[in-house]
Amino acid sequence: MKFREFAWNGFYIDVPESMRLTAEGGNLNSGYLRLEMEGFLMEVKWDPLDPKKAKPLAEVAESFLKTAKKTIEKETKKKIDLKAEIMEGRFISSHSAYSMIVKSGAREPIYIWNCNESKRIILVHFTSVLTEKDEIELTGRILESFRCHGKEDLISWSALNMHFALPSSFLLSDRRMAVGRTYLIFDEQKPSTFTERGRSLVIEFFSMANVLFGDKCKNLDEWFKVDYWKDLKKRCKNVSFRAAEISVQKVMRHKVIYRRGVKKSGLFWRRTTVSENFTWYCFKSNRIYSVSFVSYISRPFFLKRAINEADDRKVLQDFLSSFKCHF
Ligand SMILES: [Zn+2]
Ligand SMILES: [Zn+2]
Repeated sequence: MKFREFAWNGFYIDVPESMRLTAEGGNLNSGYLRLEMEGFLMEVKWDPLDPKKAKPLAEVAESFLKTAKKTIEKETKKKIDLKAEIMEGRFISSHSAYSMIVKSGAREPIYIWNCNESKRIILVHFTSVLTEKDEIELTGRILESFRCHGKEDLISWSALNMHFALPSSFLLSDRRMAVGRTYLIFDEQKPSTFTERGRSLVIEFFSMANVLFGDKCKNLDEWFKVDYWKDLKKRCKNVSFRAAEISVQKVMRHKVIYRRGVKKSGLFWRRTTVSENFTWYCFKSNRIYSVSFVSYISRPFFLKRAINEADDRKVLQDFLSSFKCHF
């Protein structure tokens, strides 16, 4: 079985190549995700951890079972007896994890641990109808690779056949993963009494681009105006651009079309919004990628407004140089 890295919301896991991300929600602080392949399912749930008020893991396990029992009884309208057998604990990503197994027809190993580094309580739940031997081998391999925290300030994302890195302050706030079109939106907000500051990054790609857009894959300026601009305007408040140019910054040797614009708005609270867009066609994956970065500052009119352009440039450069649009 071939494995590949999957990275999402600060988790790094080696999973079989055939495993797909089928559901996810939340952000770095609290959320869930589900990966699936035939006969095997893996769910990860995480919530904020307050190290001073951390509950014993056995208690967390107990309440997880209670909720699972309720959900199943509600769905099947039958009373069930959900029992778990406690297994020997194991180390996951250098943490000592509590583990148990539920036998419900399928085998369901469950692991729970606290990660003080990323300040999260983490629960991993496998459901398997593979043979016991195959399941033990597979979960063993996955758990060995599992990392829930890193040393770097940048968080890597590796999924949906792309890869990139972003500062941990950028939280996944919205997404859509559909056939033909996928976007992920990351937001960073820094409010204070007299200043509202924020940055957004929209990563969007269109699959099967040569079928959907034909020759426009070679004329991305036109593609942007005709097929994309309207949607982007709806998604990003105050976005505006001047004419496009060819970017000095390439992504994996692809030629990139670059746009930038500044918009000022508001009467008492005045807002300056700087927007940048990078669009390219990746012939290897047959996708059109369009990345928009919006940085704004809003203050009462009597205060000076200045965007930290050097920091924006650094975030963008780190992001674009980490970006892999094909493998
Ligand atoms: Zn950890
Ligand atoms: Zn590419």
